[in-house]
Amino acid sequence: YKRIVLASRPVGDIEPNTFRTEKHPVSALVPGDGEVLVQVTYLSCDPAQRGYIRDVRSYLPPVQIGETMRAQGLGVVIKVGKGSTLNVGQTVTGAFGWTEFAVMKEQHVDKITVPKGVQAIDFLNTLGMSGLTAYFGIRDICQIKPGETVIVSGAAGSVGSVACQLARRAGAGKVYAIAGSPDKCEWLEKEVGVDRALNYKSKTFYSDLKGIGYIDVYFDNVGGDLLDMVLTRLNKGARIALCGAISQYNATKPKGLQNYLTLISQRATLRGFIILDYVPEFPAAIEELAVALVDGSIKRKFHIVDGLEQAPVALPWLFAGKNEGKLLVKVSDE
Ligand code: NDP
Repeated sequence: YKRIVLASRPVGDIEPNTFRTEKHPVSALVPGDGEVLVQVTYLSCDPAQRGYIRDVRSYLPPVQIGETMRAQGLGVVIKVGKGSTLNVGQTVTGAFGWTEFAVMKEQHVDKITVPKGVQAIDFLNTLGMSGLTAYFGIRDICQIKPGETVIVSGAAGSVGSVACQLARRAGAGKVYAIAGSPDKCEWLEKEVGVDRALNYKSKTFYSDLKGIGYIDVYFDNVGGDLLDMVLTRLNKGARIALCGAISQYNATKPKGLQNYLTLISQRATLRGFIILDYVPEFPAAIEELAVALVDGSIKRKFHIVDGLEQAPVALPWLFAGKNEGKLLVKVSDE
């Protein structure tokens, strides 16, 4: 079977020699006590993976050179060890990594039951880390009051698009989106239902941003210059949810903020959060999001590439905005 390991730490962008493919015999994968063997079907591409290969202090330890690249995935149990409570054929999610097969401790996988009207891959998107990040970020960090103006960056992506839709549900008066192409902006306005989507690559972006007036809530996926620009547009008491800073993940020297003094004058709050802190609340949130998927009130889009060997090719797309929706790698048939 194939697996892809970290071969060297990139300084800036991910490079062709950052990862290396290895082949190992499947026979070497024998689940022990309380373990299961999983055949991976899909892998999630996440901007956080750039952080996992950086040798710095973070919320998870860095992936070491020679280790399988960390990735969240969807798979099927094909063999169980002694004392396992899972059955062969069970669909599961877990941090399988960039591999076709993985031996996992049972407590490190999550059993999933796919509700009618939902796809299993939704558990890597709206019903997985992406949707849950939007859910708890909007609920706890943004604390939207009825009628407030909300703006979301990285809005056409998997987290951002859910954040836009949940902001509306939370009672926002106006929901604005920021994305990087006319097509993405069109999808946001027509399908996702934002009031207006602004293209940050457009020459008129800053005047367009000023045109929408001051904002109460910024759900930030991008960081850097965009965050700095939005800081000049805050209403009194504004909340900024620091969900991510994708514009800075490849940077050798991350950009500092020039306009942070507006946080003082506008009595605003800038607050980071990490989805892993909400694990005990996942089941209830997944149930709520699943209802919205089934009744069609939450829209989503997938961008699927085929074959494990495409994972190192696809991951950098996130940083170039080449993905149109949730980026997944299909590893095998479900
Ligand atoms: P997306 O599906 O949104 O894909 C990434 C998108 O980011 C790209 O498509 C691109 O869209 C945009 N982008 C890339 N580079 C830049 C740039 N320099 N400036 C502006 N936009 C850029 O990814 P996710 O939904 O998975 O992740 C979104 C954010 O959420 C990330 O920052 C991620 O780290 C964060 N996150 C945080 C979590 C937490 O616990 N705090 C958990 C999960 C995700 P475009 O074409 O519009 O430029």
